[in-house]
Amino acid sequence: MINLFANLLVGMGAGILILALRPVRRLIAQLSPGPLRRHWYVLATMILFFTVGYLGYLAFQWHAHLAFHDLFAPIVFFLGACFVLLVGYLSLETAIDARRMAALEQESITDPLMGIYNRRYLDRRLAHEEHRAQRYGLPLSILMIDIDHFKEVNDTYGHPVGDVILRGLGELITDTVRSTDIVARYGGEEIMVIAPSTPIGTAARLADRLRQAVENASLATHVVEGNKKPLHITISIGVAHLGQNHHDTRGLVQSADEAMYRAKREGRNRVVIDG
Ligand code: GH3
Ligand code: MG
Ligand code: MG
Repeated sequence: MINLFANLLVGMGAGILILALRPVRRLIAQLSPGPLRRHWYVLATMILFFTVGYLGYLAFQWHAHLAFHDLFAPIVFFLGACFVLLVGYLSLETAIDARRMAALEQESITDPLMGIYNRRYLDRRLAHEEHRAQRYGLPLSILMIDIDHFKEVNDTYGHPVGDVILRGLGELITDTVRSTDIVARYGGEEIMVIAPSTPIGTAARLADRLRQAVENASLATHVVEGNKKPLHITISIGVAHLGQNHHDTRGLVQSADEAMYRAKREGRNRVVIDG
């Protein structure tokens, strides 16, 4: 009777170890190639080794005459296998939860239409970059971008076409700036680029590169007599730099805004530098 019970415990333990490979496999599938994934493979291989060990133990013990205290090892084997299964599922659930939270966090700082950062993130990041620039004496520039005559585009081609243009503009700007620059929707069709560690001259060149890229791109099409025609827009950009005429983000944004409005007054499709 004790024999049967001991064999049952070890046999079930081996089965549970095999089951524990399931969450581990699912977890591995979620990980991108790299050291962490390799470590989980090592763990899966160890589980397999343990399973073989359990089965070997079972084979050797099969006909042994066991006393009551001999149940100690099979019980530990069984609980060990339960522990491995539990750790496997908890790790998988934790990974799924962390991924969900990261996705939610990303969603809460992304503008759904333009696919770039939203105003909430922009304000937070601007304050952070200002603090960093002041503390380490680094340059900080911002670009305020506004589409020229966008109301007319909406009125002529419809809001859905306007939305396509906004999305395309978000992508174009993101592709043109450095990966360390932050691109965010400031308002309706206004976009701000925060350029950390960037002096005003470099920011001005970036602004002009953006202006030209938009001028040369076709961000949407419209149909004329059955034919698709490319649609072009232009943008006006105001560039401002921390520390020139102002020392906080409020003043900085106001200067970039004023420079942008000057660009509008001076004929649009141009870059104006604050100061
Ligand atoms: P200006 O050259 O002076 O900038 O002229 P404008 O017509 O672009 O003027 P303004 O910048 O004030 O235009 C804002 C327009 O942007 C109004 C609205 O039709 C459009 N707009 C704002 N948000 C959205 C949006 O989410 N989708 C679409 N399709 N249009 C938007
Ligand atoms: Mg506009
Ligand atoms: Mg505007």
